[in-house]
Amino acid sequence: MSQTPTTENSFARMQAGRPTGPLVQGYEVIIGFETHTQLTTLSKIFSRASTAFGAEPNTQASAVDFALPGALPVMNKGAVQRAIEFGLAVNAHIAEASVFARKNYFYPDLPKGYQISQFEIPVVQGGMVEFFLGDEKKTVRLVRAHLEEDAGKSLHEDFIGMSGIDLNRAGTPLLEIVTEPDMRSSAEAVAYAKELHKIVTWIGICDGNMQEGSFRCDANVSVRKPGAELGTRREIKNLNSFKFMQQAIDYEIRWQIEQIEDGHAIQQATVLFDPDTGETRAMRTKEDAADYRYFPDPDLPPLVIGRDWVEKTRAEMSELPRVMAARFVADYGLPEYDAGQVTQSKAVAAYFEAVAAASKQPKLASNWVMGELSRRLNNEEKPIEASAVGAAQLAVLITRIADGTVSNNAARQVFDALWTAEGADVDAIIEAKGLKQMSDTGELEKIIDDVLAANVKNVEEVKAGNAKAMNALVGQAMKATKGKANPAQVNELLKKKLG
Ligand code: ADP
Ligand code: MG
Repeated sequence: MSQTPTTENSFARMQAGRPTGPLVQGYEVIIGFETHTQLTTLSKIFSRASTAFGAEPNTQASAVDFALPGALPVMNKGAVQRAIEFGLAVNAHIAEASVFARKNYFYPDLPKGYQISQFEIPVVQGGMVEFFLGDEKKTVRLVRAHLEEDAGKSLHEDFIGMSGIDLNRAGTPLLEIVTEPDMRSSAEAVAYAKELHKIVTWIGICDGNMQEGSFRCDANVSVRKPGAELGTRREIKNLNSFKFMQQAIDYEIRWQIEQIEDGHAIQQATVLFDPDTGETRAMRTKEDAADYRYFPDPDLPPLVIGRDWVEKTRAEMSELPRVMAARFVADYGLPEYDAGQVTQSKAVAAYFEAVAAASKQPKLASNWVMGELSRRLNNEEKPIEASAVGAAQLAVLITRIADGTVSNNAARQVFDALWTAEGADVDAIIEAKGLKQMSDTGELEKIIDDVLAANVKNVEEVKAGNAKAMNALVGQAMKATKGKANPAQVNELLKKKLG
C-alpha cells in the first residue's frame, strides 16, 4: 500500500458512515490529531550528536545539525527500529520502502532551509488506536506515522536584548503520528492522546515527558451542522499537557461556533493556546503542502525495511497493553473497563498482576488498584513504583477481605495504616486496631437490639415500608460496631428481627 498525502476531499470521503458525535449548540465537533513523539535514541536521526535534554546551547550539535556545507545525513537505525515497533503496536503497515523528503521553509532555527521529513511515502501507514471513553469503546484510525527531524530553538535573551539560536534539539528524531479526523469531542480527543501516550511509553519508543516536549500534540478542530460537509479547521499547535488540551479545544469549539453564528466564515489557521487567558490566538494563516515545495531528498536513499526485520521486531516485542488487557478479561474475568485501567502502564499492570496472583482475587485487586491505591498515589503525585503499600501487602489485605476477617471499611483503615507506615504487617494492624469483623452473632444481635430500642421512629417507618429507614438502621448498627460488623449480616439480622 503506498499512500499519497491526504487531501481535504479524501478526509471528507473517509468520514462517510461515521456516527454523529454529541452536539454542541447544534454543531458537531470534528477533531484530528498530529502528535510529535520524540524517539528515545541516544543520538540524532541523521548525526551522531547526543539527544540528551538540557545541555549548554550548541554543545550537542554536529556539522550535520549546523548544516555546514558538505555535511551529509546518515540514517540512525534506532529511529527506524522505533518506527517499526510503533507500526506493529497500532496494527499498521510498515512500508517496504519509504522516502525522505525536504520540507522547505525559512526559519532561524532551521539552518538548512528545509526540514528532512517524509511526505508521499511514510514509513508507517494506516493503523488504529482503540480506547475507552467512559465505558464506550472508541476507535481512532491513523493515517500515517512518519520519521522526521526536529528543528532547533530560538532563545530570546531579554537581559541582553538579543536572540540566540540553540541547535541542540536540531536533528532530534521525531515520529509524527497523524489521525483521521475521527474524534467528536474534547473528552474523546484527550482520551485518544492519553492512549497514544500510553502506547509509546509502554513500548519505550518515547519517554513521554510532556514538559520537556517529548510528546507534543497539534489538535485540528472544526465544527459543522450534522450531515454537512466538513468545516474549515484551525490547528492548535503544541499542546503539552492533557489539561491544556481539553481547555484549548473547548475554547476553540465555542469560538468557532460563535464566529459562524455571527455570520463569519472560519479561516484555516494555525493557533496557539495561552494558558493564562484560556484562549486560542491565531499565529499565522495556514500554509498548504504546496507552499513547502516538498521533493525527495537526494542525500538519502529510500528507507528499505526487509520483512525479516519487521518479523524479528514483532517476535521480540513485549505484550502490548491491549493484548494484556484482553488476557486479563479472558483469564481473570475482569470487566473490559477494569482491564484498561490496570494496564495504563507497565508498572501498574505488574503491580496488579502481583496482587491478583497472590490474593487469587482479581476483581478485588483491580478495585483496590483503581480505587484506594490510585487515589493515594494521585494525592501525593507519586508513581506506583513509589507506592508506600507494596503488592504483597495489598494481596494479604485483600485475602482478609475475601475470607471475611475484615470488612471493606475496616480494610480501608488498615490500608491507611500501612500507607503511613504505622505498621507493615496487615494482621498485626488488624489486631492492634481491633478491626476484626464481628463474627459472633450473639454479640451482634445484642448491639442490634440496642439500636432498635434507641430508634423506635425508624423501626416504625421500616414496618410502614420505608426502605430509607432501613438504611438508617443499618448505618446505626455499623456505627455501633465501629464498622466491624459485616453489613450484609447486619442487614439480614435486622430483616429477621423486623419480620
Ligand atoms: P497538515 O496539517 O500538515 O496540512 P493534513 O492535511 O494531513 O496535514 O491534516 C492534518 C490533520 O487534520 C489530520 O489529523 C486530519 O485528521 C485533520 N483534519 C483534516 N480535516 C479536518 C477537518 N475538517 N476538521 C478537523 N480536523 C481535520
Ligand atoms: Mg499540521
